[in-house]
Amino acid sequence: MREKIMSYLTAIMAFLKKSEASTKCPICNKYSSQSVSKRSHGQTMLCPYCKSLFIKEK
Ligand SMILES: [Zn+2]
Repeated sequence: MREKIMSYLTAIMAFLKKSEASTKCPICNKYSSQSVSKRSHGQTMLCPYCKSLFIKEK
């Protein structure tokens, strides 16, 4: 029973990791692939182009 729940959670985590969306960097205005879960939780994202940290406001 417990193992079933764990594998279920692992599947969700894998799904969330794969969920990425194109996000525009407010500093250099370039688009990069960012985690959807990070975006929806207002977490800091790293721009791979200018190495700036930014938070996407909804
Ligand atoms: Zn940037």
